Amino acid sequence: MQKKNNRFETAVIHDGYDAKDMLGSLTTPLFQTSTFTFETAEQGEKRFAGEEEGFIYSRLGNPTVRALEERIATLENGERGLAFGSGMAAVSAILFALTKANDHILCSSGLYGCTFGLLQMLHEKFNISYDFSSMETKEEIRSLIKEETACIYVETPINPTMKLIDLQLVAEVAKEYGIPVIVDNTFSSPYLQRPLDLGCDMVVHSATKYIGGHGDVVAGLAVGKKDFFDSVAMTTQKDIGGIISPFDAWLLLRGLKTLPVRMDRHCENAEKIVEKLESHPKILTVYYPGSKKNPDFSICEKQMKRGGGMISFAVDGTKADAQELLNKLNFIKIAVSLGDAETLIQHPATMTHSVVPEESREKMGITDQLIRLSVGLEAWEDIWSDLEQALNQLK
Ligand SMILES: *Cc1c(COP(=O)(O)O)cnc(C)c1O
Repeated sequence: MQKKNNRFETAVIHDGYDAKDMLGSLTTPLFQTSTFTFETAEQGEKRFAGEEEGFIYSRLGNPTVRALEERIATLENGERGLAFGSGMAAVSAILFALTKANDHILCSSGLYGCTFGLLQMLHEKFNISYDFSSMETKEEIRSLIKEETACIYVETPINPTMKLIDLQLVAEVAKEYGIPVIVDNTFSSPYLQRPLDLGCDMVVHSATKYIGGHGDVVAGLAVGKKDFFDSVAMTTQKDIGGIISPFDAWLLLRGLKTLPVRMDRHCENAEKIVEKLESHPKILTVYYPGSKKNPDFSICEKQMKRGGGMISFAVDGTKADAQELLNKLNFIKIAVSLGDAETLIQHPATMTHSVVPEESREKMGITDQLIRLSVGLEAWEDIWSDLEQALNQLK
């Protein structure tokens, strides 16, 4: 394996791959194969017995996938990475590995919709309970930890309200009880935020978003301690089987190379758009981690390199006005997902968070006027003029 590179911008391009191992191929070759042949029966026996290094079958490991896993591990500053067929496959493999019947999970007060769905399923099938916490103070977190608490599961920034959680604070409390902290780092990517450096135990990603970055892959990644992820690889990943395809791993290796360049541009564009939105008369509130007006700005400064590419904002009007704004856009695309080159816009109350009961939605700040924007890589002036012409058409 190529030795670890210290600087992120170099590591995204080189870590986990050495051309010398692959006939000098500059890019990581795509091993589009389901299985690997053994030269002899005895070699097969040794591979299965773990006495000889080497590949067996692509659900158990594949060289293209392995390169991606090693690269994400060094980018998150962890010991071992694992790749999955989707972000949800990564989340479910980890939660199934960490919990048993009657356990408890403490979660941040906002969660990705399908993660919430998974918790409900764990509750129905295995009586695993969960609580939500704003995690603003240590006392609050301590008061919600129980004997049966198996893990703390955190998203920050929280989708779509962009509330932040102080990861170092959560990790410190978790250490008192010896409970692992899992962080969904999808919105930031390892370029903007590295939870393991802040004392958290594992990171999951929907690599579908910023890591892939081009809207052409659905995939997941996870990073943490070697012992734990070795066991996930041999249990919930291998036997539930949510593995990534070699081609998707290859696309992610390609996407990763430009992650720092893309993230800087996403952030720059978002900062400009936030400035414009904050002074537009049709906008009530703008939610952006990197804005000085954000009540959590000090947490952003503490743990994020920059504010990211995701913005939410509330329009002064009704649900119909919010929908009208989307309909009046020219090149900005109405779509869920995020982190792509294209600017994407969606209406959380009727799209990503439509499954959340109205009452909880209101409590989470997901009103009918709220709109979420994934700022793309286009010229920010064009993104703004499209938004502005649509805003100016609202009554
Ligand atoms: C998209 C997303 C997921 C789920 O990932 P998939 O790749 O769609 O399975 C999980 N968490 C967050 C924050 C996401 O945005």
